[in-house]
Amino acid sequence: MNVANLMMNLEQRHPGEVEYLQAVKEVLISIEEVYNLHPEFEANKIAERIVEPDRIFTFKVAWVDDKGEIQVNIGYRVQFNNAIGPYKGGLRFHASVTVSTLKFLGFEQTFKNALTTLPLGGGKGGSDFNPRGKSDGEIMRFCQAFMLELWQYIGPQTDVPAGDIGVGAREIGYLYGMYRKLARENTGVLTGKSMGFGGSLIRPEATGFGAVYFVKRMLENQGISMEGKTISVSGFGNVAWGAALKAVEFGAKVVTISGPDGFIYDPEGLDAEKIEYMLDLRASNNDVVEPFAERFPSATFTKGAKPWSVKVDIAMPCAIQNELNGDDAKMLIDNGAICIAEVSNMGCTPEAIDALIEARVMYGPGKAVNAGGVATSGLEMTQNAMKLNWTAEEVDAKLHQIMMSIHDACVEYGTEAGGYINYMKGANIAGFIKVAKSMVEQGVV
Ligand code: GLU
Repeated sequence: MNVANLMMNLEQRHPGEVEYLQAVKEVLISIEEVYNLHPEFEANKIAERIVEPDRIFTFKVAWVDDKGEIQVNIGYRVQFNNAIGPYKGGLRFHASVTVSTLKFLGFEQTFKNALTTLPLGGGKGGSDFNPRGKSDGEIMRFCQAFMLELWQYIGPQTDVPAGDIGVGAREIGYLYGMYRKLARENTGVLTGKSMGFGGSLIRPEATGFGAVYFVKRMLENQGISMEGKTISVSGFGNVAWGAALKAVEFGAKVVTISGPDGFIYDPEGLDAEKIEYMLDLRASNNDVVEPFAERFPSATFTKGAKPWSVKVDIAMPCAIQNELNGDDAKMLIDNGAICIAEVSNMGCTPEAIDALIEARVMYGPGKAVNAGGVATSGLEMTQNAMKLNWTAEEVDAKLHQIMMSIHDACVEYGTEAGGYINYMKGANIAGFIKVAKSMVEQGVV
């Protein structure tokens, strides 16, 4: 494999798909060495095949807003790779959604899902629909119109969507209601469902919990305890919420959250009440965190900035791709941070990753750190198939065990000669090998 040539061809074929090309390049560079030790990969053109999605569905979503005006959005489902299981991955409703963002997310998902140890392929979907300021009725009508198109492409054995940015339990409920009406069946076709109709306990918390289990393991692997460590978190949605809950339970101090309007710094750290308040902020649908500082006097709000200037031990970006850049990484390193763990998908830019690895700071890539969300979706699928519910303790124990096994796979494939653990390399190689071997064994399809 020649990464430069492959990337050149891909750039020509998909011009301007910046996020997608960024994600592919990172993986190809990580796996190049191992790839070239496997002549069967080259003979089967695995690299050329694995970087292209199997197919992409694009559809118009027309709906009527509360004023009676007709709105038109674009919906997508990217079915990236199903070599090891049905396509699996979330739906993102966000103004920034394009084919490029969903292709990068579907590509990442393929390797992430392989890391979970569960039989899940990779997919992603969504829409450029912006939920900010929309009423409940508008959200419902949009979800119904979206599912009216999507339902024909998905199924419990084919493609199982879930939530992502802008899609939580409420949206999954509306999407599920329409699916069941059209398909005339009750199946585990979506994950992240409410408990009343097949959801799994711990799924709402899973991405954040899993990320903290992973970080704790990274630290303990170096003989460092999580207790008393300060953590900056970005975002204020479901993922940031779960991460804050578990980090505080382990004795760490979470001192920031953020939104599109700016960030909150609370030197006293978040307690149960403040963490709960994040959910109220989200439910208000205004997409702002400023009210947090009005509600809690110990907190200050900084407009239009990200939380990476705050001196902390650990940073956990939980918002969106490329939210932590090279300058942010340098600032965190200069301030003595010991660990940066991406909880958002591709939260760090390539410059940030380079800076962290060069400084030998612990860096956990999103596809490993945040895999607890989709892993628990996999556990929801299992429970649906068995038509029973596990207890919260059972699900949490399985989630914990999966995160430990992902961590250990990263260590196995990512430990460098000097002893530094390159988790990015480890995660990319471990995920890739599993999918690539399956593709070789299944022939050219
Ligand atoms: N959107 C989440 C992710 O990025 C969860 C996907 C799922 O549960 O299928 O992994």
